Amino acid sequence: MIRRVKGTQDFLDLTLFDFIITTISRHLSRYHFTHITTPIIEHTELFKRSLGQQTDVVSKEMFTLETRSQDDDGMCLRPEATASIARAFVENGIQTTPWKVWTWGPMFRYERPQKGRFREFNQVSMEIIGSASIAQDAHFIKMLDRYFHETLHLNNYAVLINFLGCQQDRDRMKIALTTFLEKNSAIICSTCTERKDKNILRIFDCKNQDCQTLYTKAPYITDFLCDECDSEWKTLQLQLHLLSVSYAHKPTLVRGLDYYQKTVFEFVSNDLGAQNTFCGGGRYDHLIKDLGASQDQPSIGAAIGIERLMLMLELHKDRLALEQLPSLHIIIPLSTEQHALALLLADTLQAADFCVEILLEGDSAKSMMRKANKLGAAYSLIIGSEEQATKTVSVKNMITGEDTHLAQSEVVKFLKK
Ligand SMILES: [Zn+2]
Ligand SMILES: [Zn+2]
Repeated sequence: MIRRVKGTQDFLDLTLFDFIITTISRHLSRYHFTHITTPIIEHTELFKRSLGQQTDVVSKEMFTLETRSQDDDGMCLRPEATASIARAFVENGIQTTPWKVWTWGPMFRYERPQKGRFREFNQVSMEIIGSASIAQDAHFIKMLDRYFHETLHLNNYAVLINFLGCQQDRDRMKIALTTFLEKNSAIICSTCTERKDKNILRIFDCKNQDCQTLYTKAPYITDFLCDECDSEWKTLQLQLHLLSVSYAHKPTLVRGLDYYQKTVFEFVSNDLGAQNTFCGGGRYDHLIKDLGASQDQPSIGAAIGIERLMLMLELHKDRLALEQLPSLHIIIPLSTEQHALALLLADTLQAADFCVEILLEGDSAKSMMRKANKLGAAYSLIIGSEEQATKTVSVKNMITGEDTHLAQSEVVKFLKK
């Protein structure tokens, strides 16, 4: 037997998956987002330039493709969608801003699989490109909070927010942080020692208990904000209060990617275990120019992990307005002689919008009735030689057991009432 690739999964029941896509689509259209799609394959260079060479995603987790010719140098399966959407903005010469778009689909990262973490996973990504106003950030976070809370009826989650300031702020903070780490070099773990030189803000993501205890005393980015950033940070908090978003300031929240600055946020839940972030995002004011545009387009975006959200929704499916499946009716031709008639009847019913199955295999009427029952049929429509001769159907209500004999031409009318 050939097994599926490690870290991938077969979805055999898409009810929750489809529910997420349908509801987020409706939700985002209310906020005037347009649904777009970008390729799953991109040039590796796109992510090197946007996420940063030193990030774990680019340095360790990329699914790069074997090169087959001179023209397709360095391609990979996308590890996330923000960089792709930013590329699409630049490449398609989008002029009208803010450009508010969303997409969903599979992303790929070569990580160690565990609960809620797959190598092929699905995300909903939404971006507002070309809007610098901090009010946009408050509106964006409220939009996500409203979706999780009101549409999905989730309440076991927290909104964590931090403010990373501008480049100058982070440069000043990094100097202070380097000094702090050097003073404590005997305590910090080897990963943090390595990150100190390569991607210093990531030290805060360390899971080592000694490191975490030490970092409660580390310099925090929000203490290094310039006047302008400090005022934006205060405005953001005020507006979130105004919009009744309950959030917590987490000063060590940095998100792992280089393009983030100013606002970063995560939605986390205790229902998820170690991989507890089910939505994350932030502001990226310089990415568009870094990808070749003539000017900066301040932007904000977020991604929702569909698999993780499904894990959370699984726990209280009963609260969701999941779409009810239509009633199933099963046509049972008692021998191959009645197959043609069964096909015609099914075709008529399907044209009238009924969900219909024909049982074409079965050695006895009894076993076919058992099968119809197992499939959860509302009505069984039995056609034997007698029914064929008299142009009738025997209809059995599978719940009450009541039998009715009908003209074939009356079946649609009967099922409709
Ligand atoms: Zn600043
Ligand atoms: Zn550490």
